[in-house]
Amino acid sequence: MVKVAVIGAGVSGLVAAKELQQEGHNVVVFEKNNRVGGTWIYTPKTDSDPLSMDPARETVHSSVYHSLRTNLPRQIMGFLDYPLSKRESGDPRTFPGHEEVLRFLEEFAGEFGIHELTRFETEVVKVERKENEWIVESRGGDSVSQEVFEAVVVCSGHFVEPRLAVVPGIENFPGFQMHSHNYRVPHSFKDQVVILIGLGPSSFDISKDIAGVAKEVHVATKPNPLLKGMKLENVRNICFHTLIKCVYEDGLVAFEDGFSTYADAIIHCTGYKYHIPFLETNGIVTIEDNRVGPLYKHVFPPSLAPGLSFIGLTFRETIFVVIELQAKWVARVLSGKILLPTEEEMMESVKDMYRVMEENALPKRYTHSIRPFQADYKQWLAAQIGLPPLEDWRDNMLMECFKKVIEMNEMYRDEWDDNYWDTIIENGSAS
Ligand SMILES: Cc1cc2nc3c(=O)[nH]c(=O)nc-3n(C[C@H](O)[C@H](O)[C@H](O)COP(=O)(O)OP(=O)(O)OC[C@H]3O[C@@H](n4cnc5c(N)ncnc54)[C@H](O)[C@@H]3O)c2cc1C
Repeated sequence: MVKVAVIGAGVSGLVAAKELQQEGHNVVVFEKNNRVGGTWIYTPKTDSDPLSMDPARETVHSSVYHSLRTNLPRQIMGFLDYPLSKRESGDPRTFPGHEEVLRFLEEFAGEFGIHELTRFETEVVKVERKENEWIVESRGGDSVSQEVFEAVVVCSGHFVEPRLAVVPGIENFPGFQMHSHNYRVPHSFKDQVVILIGLGPSSFDISKDIAGVAKEVHVATKPNPLLKGMKLENVRNICFHTLIKCVYEDGLVAFEDGFSTYADAIIHCTGYKYHIPFLETNGIVTIEDNRVGPLYKHVFPPSLAPGLSFIGLTFRETIFVVIELQAKWVARVLSGKILLPTEEEMMESVKDMYRVMEENALPKRYTHSIRPFQADYKQWLAAQIGLPPLEDWRDNMLMECFKKVIEMNEMYRDEWDDNYWDTIIENGSAS
């Protein structure tokens, strides 16, 4: 039995706590908020600085906007051991709203006794290794305390610290600027010309949300190596462009494709930076261009394993299932049921992955993106913990959702053919 600190009670921390507890470990969860759910706790509050640039700003953890529905169907939003099933009093939709996901996570925490393990309103301010132990310093109210653990599992999330677009002249733009982290509702953009920079899942949703009230929405996108050959068709009052060439002091925004317009607002939908301010490893674990490393299979830093691990860093996958598999792996490695390779072998594996990325001209910031070059990651984790291979329909559903988003099909959630997919799942066959 190992005494383990879990930092965060979002999806990653909840599942980590469940799996660690079931392996017989002594678990303490630290959560700075007053409830479980992490990013799924919607709040109308936002950071005090809409661009989230001021280091002294008041911050809000969640980036969830009011209209948010899951971007994946519930069949692949839940856990293997605890599916996100429809229930009588809940949101019946296949792609439910954020409230349903939060309710699901609260029920999960209740079912597995996670509230009892959690110290709420307690923020971890420092994690440091001393010899073979980990000192966790936390702040709850006015008091700061230190406690010794044998292992630490970092589950603190990575959609909190915005990344901003670098565009010539943007700092002198006279209109309103914000990052999507601080977007909640569209009303304030009524009748405006709004520019969105970036085309990820948030931009997909927010552009539609705002287009309902705005005069025009223009989306600036850059060629994405993951979306080769994609052609974007303009829809309703939403137009797609290449990158912005320059922003002028009078509010004129000029795009590289030759189009220009006066704009009232610019929203940066440009993603987030991994940010783990409490972790001190004397430079062993670094964050460089959004690569947290070196990490063996995105979880264990080879020279600090198994005492330090990270859950939930990966993206472009069925996140809940990947997190669940990572948590099972960590719990069993800590109880000695699964042996890790040697430090040298783990480092070799990390270098191999970096080499493949370089060969495919993928920048470091795609390190934790499971698609396109680590598509077998889930199956690898499943095999480590002795589970049979996961069914093909899971990946087929995921790829179908990616396709719909890339095609900018704004109705895909409501047009989803449940009967078709139910048959596929029942037959256990690939689509
Ligand atoms: C806008 C948005 C929409 C998304 N939509 C989907 C979707 O449709 N489907 C999907 O599968 N995924 C979606 N995701 C991905 C989502 O992030 C994951 O589903 C999942 O919630 C990640 O959980 P997590 O526990 O890793 O991180 P989080 O949910 O961010 O939880 C981290 C927790 O750690 C706590 N914490 C952080 N630092 C400290 C500290 N120092 N001390 C104590 N506590 C700390 C935080 O308070 C928080 O509770 C979306 C993400 C965003 C931002």
